[in-house]
Amino acid sequence: MTVEIICVGTELLLGNIVNTNAAYLAEKCAGLGLSCFFQTVVGDNEDRLTQVLTCAMDRSDIVILSGGLGPTEDDLTKEVAAKVCGKELFLDENTHERIVEYFVARDITPTVNNWKQALIPEGAIVLDNENGTAPGVIIEAEKAKVILLPGPPNELIPLFEDKVAPYLEKLTPGVIRSQTIKICGIGESQAETMMLDLIDSQTNPTIATYAKTGEVHIRVTAAAEDEKAAGKLLKPVVKELKARFGQNVYTTEEGVTLEKAVADLLLGSDLTITFAESCTGGMLSARLVGVSGVSDCYKAGFVTYSNKAKRKFLGVKKHTLDKHGAVSEQTAEEMAKGAALAAKADVAVAITGIAGPDGGTKVKPVGLVYIACYVKGKVTVEKYQFKGNRSKVRESAVSSALGLTRRCILEYFSKVTFDKK
Ligand code: ATP
Ligand code: MG
Repeated sequence: MTVEIICVGTELLLGNIVNTNAAYLAEKCAGLGLSCFFQTVVGDNEDRLTQVLTCAMDRSDIVILSGGLGPTEDDLTKEVAAKVCGKELFLDENTHERIVEYFVARDITPTVNNWKQALIPEGAIVLDNENGTAPGVIIEAEKAKVILLPGPPNELIPLFEDKVAPYLEKLTPGVIRSQTIKICGIGESQAETMMLDLIDSQTNPTIATYAKTGEVHIRVTAAAEDEKAAGKLLKPVVKELKARFGQNVYTTEEGVTLEKAVADLLLGSDLTITFAESCTGGMLSARLVGVSGVSDCYKAGFVTYSNKAKRKFLGVKKHTLDKHGAVSEQTAEEMAKGAALAAKADVAVAITGIAGPDGGTKVKPVGLVYIACYVKGKVTVEKYQFKGNRSKVRESAVSSALGLTRRCILEYFSKVTFDKK
């Protein structure tokens, strides 16, 4: 079955907003086993939208439109879709009531144009929107199923997850299920080499790799007649991949990020952590604090950009800075040790590097970063040479620091267990 995505909005055409809805919808549809051959962006213009929708309905089974369901004059997606599908618009009592409730709850007086959002094409399926006033709409026209969704992602995503995905699943025979194995500490090409035989022989399930900053995601997707059969197909492949990548696998759960995996490891082992950051300027702290519940393990963060600050807050020796420089293995090590001491934390991670574009030399080029990880007295320092612009170097440093932290904690525990044996 084929699906086509049309994103409506002049703002999108002008590049004022990034079309994240298209990426989201395309990825979700692929996950549901639908083939997407066309995506279009069109402005808020009746003639051009009519043209694009007519064409899409001629060549695709399902057409998903995002945006233009708002109350204003320029929001005309529903009106155009109804016209192209040959349907009249009627006032939907339930939607009308929901809009009234929405405004009463917020103590706002609706304007006249708000009622236009309660107009629904005859015979259409209404998808109640819990996060806004414009409902989603499914028009089951002769040529194609036309699905209209509001533009704001915080409205579109829940509507898709809760209402559209189950609807689409019913249209396609069988189920498509996938599982993602997330790994860190190994690059994409090395990861691919390690599973080349599996990729080469793949049919069902299929295996695809996605390179993320500092990590690789491997998605295994199975098509089967039902949930149980899909699970049976996925299980041995996921097991094999987990065995091949061992401790580099930080999760096989969809919602778990690398920082969440690190936080869970700290919380599960009653370890506290602190960060000392130079070139990342607090980004590492921000990533960890993005995980709820870290107040039980995260003690403090030091942004020590200048040499003076490194000395004052972390106790880095003047001699170390003079002899080896701020971007050096020795400084990184002293930063981590000093942070652990200052914050009285079990684990301390320090980052010092040259993010660029200026400041690089032949010996210490842009992208050179030292990351030190202290765990209960033992310090591991690693040297990295990242590629890319300033923000890419800084993001890479943060991801690598999280990966290194995880590895050092796991090593610490395997050593403790080993020593006890
Ligand atoms: P509203 O009631 O807010 O007007 P709408 O359904 O009419 O909703 P639009 O007017 O097209 O949607 O867009 C509203 C906002 O939603 C945009 O300003 C933008 O922030 C976001 N948005 C719209 N389309 C997209 C898209 N394709 N990708 C990401 N964000 C989008
Ligand atoms: Mg709008």
